[in-house]
Amino acid sequence: MHRDMSRILLIEDDPDCRTIVRTYLEYVGYEVLEEGDGEEGVRRAREEDPDLILMDISLGGMDGWEATRILKADPRTAPIPVIVLTAHALTRDQERSREAGCDGYLAKPVDPQHVAREVRRTLDERGRG
Ligand SMILES: [Mg+2]
Repeated sequence: MHRDMSRILLIEDDPDCRTIVRTYLEYVGYEVLEEGDGEEGVRRAREEDPDLILMDISLGGMDGWEATRILKADPRTAPIPVIVLTAHALTRDQERSREAGCDGYLAKPVDPQHVAREVRRTLDERGRG
């Protein structure tokens, strides 16, 4: 099915951060789905097959690494690019993100324009946009 608008699933437990990122991504023309925790995020990804996932790492319950590992272990969701959003701007965390199968990495506090550029670049690379 052809869709004009790429759909981004934003998995983030901080409502302010969700609002900032969602508002900007909608402004530049994406459809944005939101979930506030890892379990619901995984469920939504399976249900909706978004074009890309923005994944917070520090979530209540399951963290973003665990959610990413689950998504990447499932052949139905493995092709969806996952970009991590995290305040843990340490090299070790970038390594952990890669080990979990994440496709990109953005440090918090998020700059919405930077997020949008990274989303665009990743979608273009994957031919999903
Ligand atoms: Mg968080």
